[in-house]
Amino acid sequence: MKAPAFEYHDPTTLAEAIALLCRLENARPLAGGQSLMPMLNMRFVQPDHVVDLNRIAELSGIRVLPDGALEIGAMTRQRDIERDARVAQACPLMVEALAQVGHRQTRNRGTIGGSLCHMDPAAELPLVCAAVDAVVRIAGPGGEREIPFAEFPLGYMTPAVGPDELLVGLHVPAAPKGQGHAFLEFARRHGDFAIVAVAVLLDPGPDGRVARASVALGGVGPAPLRLAEAEALLRGTAVEDDAIARALATTASLDPMEDALVPGWYRRHLAGVLLGRALGIARERMA
Ligand SMILES: Cc1cc2nc3c(=O)[nH]c(=O)nc-3n(C[C@H](O)[C@H](O)[C@H](O)COP(=O)(O)OP(=O)(O)OC[C@H]3O[C@@H](n4cnc5c(N)ncnc54)[C@H](O)[C@@H]3O)c2cc1C
Repeated sequence: MKAPAFEYHDPTTLAEAIALLCRLENARPLAGGQSLMPMLNMRFVQPDHVVDLNRIAELSGIRVLPDGALEIGAMTRQRDIERDARVAQACPLMVEALAQVGHRQTRNRGTIGGSLCHMDPAAELPLVCAAVDAVVRIAGPGGEREIPFAEFPLGYMTPAVGPDELLVGLHVPAAPKGQGHAFLEFARRHGDFAIVAVAVLLDPGPDGRVARASVALGGVGPAPLRLAEAEALLRGTAVEDDAIARALATTASLDPMEDALVPGWYRRHLAGVLLGRALGIARERMA
């Protein structure tokens, strides 16, 4: 099917884009189009207006702050982030995850902001943001606001961005020295959305034991899920095999979503298998 008819708008500044979103009824922002165009073609969404963000230069780019943290503009292409040495330094988890986001061709167009706002339950970038405690910046008619990523998902494919607002960027804290990381997923074919994905971060304290653990699962619930109990069980350990086993035991109580192809018990099984492997890899990388 072809996309339904809509009026196309081509702003060149953020202020202009927000003004359009405030004025127009039933408008949708267009970023890389890798999810929006299929949704238009399948008539899952039928906007009267499409507001193209691609000519708004101020929404793109990566900046490193004095403390090593990253500021990433919403319209920054996934492929540019994947290939940026500064991102590899500050957030290697994001680079590892990006290699599994669709295909090189989709990453050339797809943006980080588009992925966060589309918020597929199994998407890799929202999972990374949940694991690293990113902070997102949202602009609207009243100015800009910042919220922790944990407050960004409101429900299934629903980000906390109003119809007259735009995601403008995100703040990604720098990985502390010696952090171990791992991102693993299982998909039926390379480039498909994951059935289950897992992101793990282990921060060593001065004694070499885990001072902070971050364990996040994708594809299990409508939005990325942090496993607080597993994180607490890993804290203070040297990630010995029995500590891993205790953390894995917490996945037994997961109640994953199901669909026609994938039953909940299979997602729970995958969560345990992938988490065990990811903890082993992150342990090896923790220095
Ligand atoms: C073959 C194929 C395989 C794929 N595989 C994967 C995969 O494995 N993992 C994965 O995560 N993704 C996958 N994708 C999706 C891809 O990553 C998209 O890039 C991403 O989901 C959306 O990013 P986009 O920039 O293309 O956004 P768009 O498609 O342009 O927009 C997506 C949604 O976000 C909204 N939006 C976009 N930017 C903003 C903003 N700044 N503020 C407010 N709302 C905004 C749009 O209105 C729209 O509703 C795949 C896509 C294809 C075509």
